[in-house]
Amino acid sequence: MASTTERKPLALPGEHKKVLLHSCCAPCSGEVMEAIQASGIDFTIFFYNPNIHPLKEYELRKQENIRFAEKFGIPFIDADYDRDNWFERAKGMENEPERGIRCTMCFDMRFERTALYAYEHGFPVITSSLGISRWKDMQQINDCGVRAASHYPDMLYWEYNWRKGGGSARMIEISKRENFYQQEYCGCVYSLRDTNRHRLEGGRERIQLGVKFYGDEDAAAED
Ligand code: SF4
Repeated sequence: MASTTERKPLALPGEHKKVLLHSCCAPCSGEVMEAIQASGIDFTIFFYNPNIHPLKEYELRKQENIRFAEKFGIPFIDADYDRDNWFERAKGMENEPERGIRCTMCFDMRFERTALYAYEHGFPVITSSLGISRWKDMQQINDCGVRAASHYPDMLYWEYNWRKGGGSARMIEISKRENFYQQEYCGCVYSLRDTNRHRLEGGRERIQLGVKFYGDEDAAAED
């Protein structure tokens, strides 16, 4: 896994050697996966994102993540798509803005399942690719991760800032290199609604699922 920028070796908290990585999508987890693997840390990907709507978008994001994991031989756990449960928990929060209480619920739900799987399968540390996105509130994500891990004795949430040390740039670099599917909204039906509303107000088209891929614009510009 070569990159144009150097990474410093990473170490898990508590001198542990094994981590369960909650992954939200291939673009966000590409750099995280490469950084963990480059440090020789044993890890497994846990894909649990019942927030993603509709099913077509969920499958697109998941299959991209599976493709990348298989390429580098990383174990991939394909967890439930229990969207009824997600919608149940989101009731009353339909009109909350991004980074608000609906998102706290959404992170809590995903991390609770991640922590449960970690506990049942002997992972002492959990972490997530969610925080690498500049659209997200890293403190909000870390708080949810720590809360989920705190339900189990000795479990730790790894609060590493994946954006630093060139991580954000490598995230884009890897996404282009791998020609990852480029989602254009956070994930849930409410973020799709709000992003479309914003685009229409700005005179842009609605989002079309499954059509945009990292690197395609660069390739078109070179033609
Ligand atoms: S905007 Fe994103 S983080 Fe917030 S509830 Fe929707 S999918 Fe979850």
